[in-house]
This record gives sequence, C-alpha cells and structure tokens, in this order.
Amino acid sequence: MPITDLFTNNRQWAERMNQRDPGFFNRLARQQAPRYLWIGCSDSRVPANEIVGLLPGELFVHRNVANVVVHSDLNCLSVLQYAIDVLRVEHVIVCGHYGCGGIEAAWKKMGFGLIDNWLRHVQDVAERHTELFPRGITDAQATERLAELNVVDQVANVCRTTIVMDAWRRGQSLSIHGWIYGLHDGLLRDLGLSVTRDGTLAGEYAHVIAAIAGTPAAKK
Ligand code: ZN
Repeated sequence: MPITDLFTNNRQWAERMNQRDPGFFNRLARQQAPRYLWIGCSDSRVPANEIVGLLPGELFVHRNVANVVVHSDLNCLSVLQYAIDVLRVEHVIVCGHYGCGGIEAAWKKMGFGLIDNWLRHVQDVAERHTELFPRGITDAQATERLAELNVVDQVANVCRTTIVMDAWRRGQSLSIHGWIYGLHDGLLRDLGLSVTRDGTLAGEYAHVIAAIAGTPAAKK
C-alpha cells in the first residue's frame, strides 16, 4: 500500500464518522473526557481503541514496547499524571499480550541493540519470579507466563507511583487493572488483579501470583 493511501483512508474514515454523527469532531475538538487510561504494548496487532470498541475521546493511551511502567520514565509518568489529576480517569488498564515480541526477546536475551536496555525491565520480572519458570518449561510456555507476570508487576509499579498513591489518599475513585490480550483469538482476559485503594496491593498481588503459579504454563 503506497503511503498516500493513508490519506485516502483517513478522508474516508472522517466522512464515515461525520455521516454517523455530524457533530462528532466539533464536540471532540472542544474537550475530551475519557474514563480510561490504557497502558499497552506498541505492537501493531494490539490497537487499543479498536479491541475494546471505544471511540476517539473515550480512551487515553500510552503504549511502549512490552507495556512497561518504570518509575523514572517521565513520558509514562506524565501520561499517568495528566490522566489521573487532570482528566480524572477512573480506571487504569495495564494490558499485555500473548505472542509479544518484546517479552520473547527479553526471555531469550535475543539482543536487538538499544532496546535490550528497555527489555532489561522485563528480564527483572522473570528473575523476580524464577520459581515460576521450572526446568523443562518451553520457551513458548515461558514467554506466555512472563507476559502475564509482566502485567502483574507493571500494575504494582503503577500502584506504587506517587501519582496513584496521592489520588487514593485524597479519596479519588481510581482502580488499576491487569489484563492480557490474545493475538490468536482477539480476546481480552482479566488476570484477576484490580487494585482500588491504598494498602490492598500486597494481598491482591500475592493472590494473582498464586493463581498464575497454580495454572499449568501452557499456551492459552
Ligand atoms: Zn508486545
């Protein structure tokens, strides 16, 4: 597809949106009021708005390779702070996915250059949970399990930011969720981790790690 087709596609899309709802773009241009912040992977096969059926204006989005939340990443923290303090989103969703190239590269220590430093955070997750990667586990099984554990640890990282802690302290309604998406079937799965207030992370975290440990590390 030549790159000029993207403009053709865009005009057709804008026309369709206008036909469906003539005031749509005017309204959107004036304000956005999303209820959700999505922290997901940059992977082209995981388009946030599309897979949850939300329109422009309904989902605030941050994506990076392997949906990692690092406490010194000003980019991610700025998105989180603006979403929570200014837009007042009520839900933050950390969504990983099975078949993630970033997770696979981290697990196999593949070595692609600069990005290896970013994926080091995912290797840290694997090392934090070595008991969940028993001898004999296949690479396919391990990467799927690591994708789940990475979501869980990134949810914990979100919960531990000053931004989220301060929001809970002032009584703001805010839940942090851990989900995972299947490239192979287009379906989202709730990993069973939703943290809604200060002081509950440790219990929720232990519960979901035990659940992951209790399921066979097999392809979902
Ligand atoms: Zn990915």
